[in-house]
Amino acid sequence: MIDIAIIGGGAAGLTAGMYAARGGCQVTVFESFLPGGQSAKIRHLENYPGFAQGVSGVDFVLALQEQASRFGVEFCYETITGLHLQGEEKLLISAKNRYPAQTVIIATGASPRKIGLAGEERLTGRGVSYCATCDGALFRDQAVAVVGGGDTALTDALVLANYAARVYLIHRRDAFRGSFILQQRVKQTANIETVMSHVPKQLIGEDKLQGLVLQSTVTDLQRTLPVAGLFVAVGVNPQTEFFQDQLELSGNGAILVDGKMATSCPGVYAAGDCRETPLRQVVTAAADGAVAASSALEYLISQGKTLHRS
Ligand code: NAP
Repeated sequence: MIDIAIIGGGAAGLTAGMYAARGGCQVTVFESFLPGGQSAKIRHLENYPGFAQGVSGVDFVLALQEQASRFGVEFCYETITGLHLQGEEKLLISAKNRYPAQTVIIATGASPRKIGLAGEERLTGRGVSYCATCDGALFRDQAVAVVGGGDTALTDALVLANYAARVYLIHRRDAFRGSFILQQRVKQTANIETVMSHVPKQLIGEDKLQGLVLQSTVTDLQRTLPVAGLFVAVGVNPQTEFFQDQLELSGNGAILVDGKMATSCPGVYAAGDCRETPLRQVVTAAADGAVAASSALEYLISQGKTLHRS
């Protein structure tokens, strides 16, 4: 029996694991492939407290995983496809096994939202991408576009400006919502052209992206950009599909929690980007993980449960 089962090995899940293991619990973090989540995709994490010069996302999550392991967190590299959360004993189901657990922390994160254009799926990996850090280098000396006006879009444009000849940053309004410091850097980067009050209307290309038609949001005018890459950064969707019937969710599918990260189901907690939150940052995900673990531990003790590791 697992004391605290954690689904997701990003900053929230790994931090929850570390806190729970230090609290004397048997903890297993379930992760489909490699731990790290969205944090691992960050080229240069510069706003996590304590790293004066910043740190690469990969280095950050590797250190966090090592730290969690040091306190006894176990890792299980299986995709959880089913969950029974109601009742005293919880059950996690993968293709290979069934894992009973006393409590569950859901830290499944969020995935990039699609823009919803015809051909988007077909051209994904053939010019359309959702990760500038992963795919930016493929567009060296070419023209690319980024769509979105938040921190992700601004960061993506700055990352891509290191490789691409020209970066068009397309936003549907006349003001960005991303951080001031990122907006300043975008302004100061010579090969980024901002295209405000426009939205992508059509992807050009059959086997690979060859261009993008934009539609103005204030006039009837259209414009065609000859780009080889389109980086979509229009927000994220919480990854909560496979347990949505068992927990209370917000209108956009994020898990509703109280100040202790407790969900609507006793003994089940949520942390990080999968929960309803005003800010999705590495530091807030890590903080959520710490609160969720401490609450799960408090729950186990209040219920008089036996912990399986001392
Ligand atoms: P976000 O803040 O939700 O921004 C999404 C952007 O996409 C908005 O500008 C939105 O426009 C635009 N958009 C949404 N749907 C669109 C559509 N159908 N067509 C065109 N544009 C569309 O998402 P995010 O930038 O991915 O950030 C998510 C969270 O991660 C935030 O909390 C952010 O602070 C955090 N984050 C932080 C950093 C950092 O600190 N360096 C880096 C990345 C992400 P409107 O503005 O008009 O709504």
